[in-house]
Amino acid sequence: MFENAVYITRLIFTFQQRKADEFLAYFGRMIEDGYRHKGLRKKLVEELQAKGITDTRVLDAINRVPRHAFLTSAFLQFAYENQAFPIGAGQTISAPYTVAFQSQLLQVEKGMKVLEIGTGSGYQTSVLCEMGAKVYSIERQKLLFTNAKKMLSEMGYNCHLAYGDGYKGIPAFAPYDRIIITCAIPTFPEDLLLQMKPGGRLVMPFGEGDQQEMTVISEDENGEFKTEYFGKFSFVPMLESRSNTKL
Ligand code: SAH
Repeated sequence: MFENAVYITRLIFTFQQRKADEFLAYFGRMIEDGYRHKGLRKKLVEELQAKGITDTRVLDAINRVPRHAFLTSAFLQFAYENQAFPIGAGQTISAPYTVAFQSQLLQVEKGMKVLEIGTGSGYQTSVLCEMGAKVYSIERQKLLFTNAKKMLSEMGYNCHLAYGDGYKGIPAFAPYDRIIITCAIPTFPEDLLLQMKPGGRLVMPFGEGDQQEMTVISEDENGEFKTEYFGKFSFVPMLESRSNTKL
């Protein structure tokens, strides 16, 4: 009888422990992150490796961030497929491969200041935070800014989010070691390059139309800018600046 009670208590404890493991206790909010999600994430990381992503800091970060938390419930089951999805306001969360590719090109190191243009869902922001960057991200659409701010703070990511026009960057916190643009920019980002540290790197999908060229602008020790191209991608267009935006 007594042995039975001990056995049952142990069973209940194990069950509760297991249940607890399936939740990440993020600040104030419980986001379910069970074995299934973790398994799907591991498979996604393997898929990204097979597609040529080699930076282990990027792969580790993607392995840690619960992408399903950034999608509306209608798309939950596809969270770990390599696809872009609508996030509202006519925008999309980039496909994981695109996020991984841009993050790898950025060559982020721990403690670096990174400026992101186009916060969107906040997924790319959280990947950069997981890589140890101090992230400053700007979003032009109020709804997305508000949602991302809430989500990222509930998840415990310590980043600075701004609502405003990404063409102008965030001069108040400049200069940045790295700059990443996550929407298609049709013009040369002069104002943003002025906010970049010497020796910095800027990664952007450059151009108009359905496809853009993934472009890296880097500055060497002598202050010479170098431009390199890394293939075609398809991003939502960067929106025109608006006179009533504020930082
Ligand atoms: N990094 C995002 C990708 C979002 S898509 C993610 O991981 O989910 C690109 C985002 O850029 C959209 O949210 C869009 O509203 C935003 N954007 C477009 N034009 C902008 C501008 N001029 N300034 C700031 N953000 C802009």
